[in-house]
Amino acid sequence: MFGFKNYLQARDIEMAYEELIKNKKNIIIGGGSYLKMSKIVYNTGIDISKLNLDYIRADENYINIGAMTTFREIEMSELLKIYYKDLFSESVKDILGIQFRNNVTIGGTVFSKYGFSDLITPLLAIDCRVVLYKGGEVRLEDFLKEEKPRRDILIEIKIPKQKSIGIFKSIRKSSTDYSVINISVSKKNMLMDKKYSIEKNLIKSLKSYTISIGAKPGRAVLIKNTIGENIINSDLKKENLFEKNEFILNLLNDETMENLVKDISFGDNMRATKEYRKEMAKVLIKKAILEGEEIDFKNYN
Ligand SMILES: Cc1cc2nc3c(=O)[nH]c(=O)nc-3n(C[C@H](O)[C@H](O)[C@H](O)COP(=O)(O)OP(=O)(O)OC[C@H]3O[C@@H](n4cnc5c(N)ncnc54)[C@H](O)[C@@H]3O)c2cc1C
Repeated sequence: MFGFKNYLQARDIEMAYEELIKNKKNIIIGGGSYLKMSKIVYNTGIDISKLNLDYIRADENYINIGAMTTFREIEMSELLKIYYKDLFSESVKDILGIQFRNNVTIGGTVFSKYGFSDLITPLLAIDCRVVLYKGGEVRLEDFLKEEKPRRDILIEIKIPKQKSIGIFKSIRKSSTDYSVINISVSKKNMLMDKKYSIEKNLIKSLKSYTISIGAKPGRAVLIKNTIGENIINSDLKKENLFEKNEFILNLLNDETMENLVKDISFGDNMRATKEYRKEMAKVLIKKAILEGEEIDFKNYN
């Protein structure tokens, strides 16, 4: 059964870190939800809940989320909604129930780099940074690529403070199961450049999406945006949503979608095959971009 031989309530972060590196079997406790699923008996469980790492606050350039902030706090944050609308609440709302989300932490999730993580997928699409006590600031993309787990403490996540369009989509077989596939797209709100045609503006807009795929079932990755490389002819004259969607769907044709995901290694597990995941990823990306462009539509007036 899972347990600790010793328990330490850290008074400051240095005390927690010193204890962590004393013994390979010492461990930081986040919300404790995933830890207690294991059967490991650790040496010392290090409690960091009194280190004031529970916050969501903005500085000049970033929204900073402390490592001990819970999913529920992220889901309900008005500050995050100002910049990212429902991106974060959508990504965590289906993770078990409210009681569970009141306990699990962003630090435990991001530090562990779980392949099934719903929250990591949108975080990756908005180019955030992780701040580690010893390792300092690292781009999330680079942190996720590291294979060797660090002996360190995650302090906070830094999210760019810019009004953005961010969409999260996932497929779950049942509401409390892990996702079969997650995708997230994001871009800064854009203004139409009057010097160029609507078509050119749209292509520029589609090119500017950052796209991430998670639960594939491995760790989330960013994909290279190749949308708009096959420029199509069109006579899109007016800013009509139907015509605009037709134009976008023409650009997001089978060839483009296949190109987008061709370098991603999808895998099989008990939830889905790699072929299914790949097809669903393409569908979800298309849906998300159409939704994103609809939100941005007003900027084209
Ligand atoms: C039954 C169950 C179902 C779940 N379903 C989903 C799901 O559908 N989607 C989803 O995205 N997630 C899911 N999760 C994962 C969950 O959302 C959390 O990611 C997970 O529980 C870890 O968060 P925690 O705060 O409980 O961390 P803990 O369990 O406390 O810790 C997890 C690991 O992270 C380390 N750690 C914690 N905090 C820090 C820190 N600040 N610095 C360094 N290391 C740290 C711990 O030492 C430990 O190794 C599920 C978890 C469970 C138990």
